[in-house]
Amino acid sequence: MLPALSPLLQLLVLVWAFALGCVVGSFLNVVIWRLPRGLTIGRPARSVCPNCKRVIRWYDNIPLLSFALLRRRCRDCGAPIAWRYPLVEGLTGLVFALLVYRQGMQVGTGPGQLVIMALVASLLIAGSVIDAEWFIIPDEITLFGLLSGLAASVALPGLHVGAASYQTFQSLTGLRHLDGLIASLIGAVGGGLLVILVAEFGRLVFRREAMGFGDVKVMAMLGAFFGWKVAMVTFFLSPFVGLAYGIPLLVIWDEHVMPYIPFMGIAALLAMVFRSSLCAYLEPLEYLVRQVVF
Ligand SMILES: [Zn+2]
Repeated sequence: MLPALSPLLQLLVLVWAFALGCVVGSFLNVVIWRLPRGLTIGRPARSVCPNCKRVIRWYDNIPLLSFALLRRRCRDCGAPIAWRYPLVEGLTGLVFALLVYRQGMQVGTGPGQLVIMALVASLLIAGSVIDAEWFIIPDEITLFGLLSGLAASVALPGLHVGAASYQTFQSLTGLRHLDGLIASLIGAVGGGLLVILVAEFGRLVFRREAMGFGDVKVMAMLGAFFGWKVAMVTFFLSPFVGLAYGIPLLVIWDEHVMPYIPFMGIAALLAMVFRSSLCAYLEPLEYLVRQVVF
């Protein structure tokens, strides 16, 4: 629980969260560039201009500011810098500020879970931008996320264990950390299985491939971090987010192929930020499951 802050301090904290998000976004840009090209994240340590290959000076690598000061051109060769750079930095900054405002200040979620939410948001942003360009989501993102989700659930059982609407159970074995791990596994399997079942159903009924395996991995990752309910809310929200973009795409541009991870990412972000109220809608379903299982 964060202490109650005066409005001025709240504003300072939000500005700080935005700035931190921009810095993380700058790192995500490196991930977005290097992962789909089979390059390593850590080496070379310094980024180079994709056009002239010269090392980017530290003062030309300041999130958002450098892009504006350089008037979106490389200082050495004058090649234009992609809009993706400031957009990812600014977006990550906004998402971090939103997380701190809604979850930290309004709901009172602890700093540990806030860090986890920021991590998941970062993975989703990187995965979405890569998917939008390449129509793939690298295993480095989803498997790293899945394993981190399991580890985080052992360290922070409050992600799953408790009486809140988004939590899986109050007590199962009596050992909170073990309960967290079990709930995380249920979330990972449940999230992944949900996509597989609906895809199978779609294949039988509509006789066509509805989703790729990347969606299965993203849903398993979300379930591992936040439990089956947040994963399920994400799954049912994402088509609505997707349709808002897909219908104009189909009608105006006659474009039938669209990346799906960005919409799942937006839905996941909403499910995460508003998990208490959204997961409450699953109560009737949860009641039914408990009647059958126990
Ligand atoms: Zn250059």
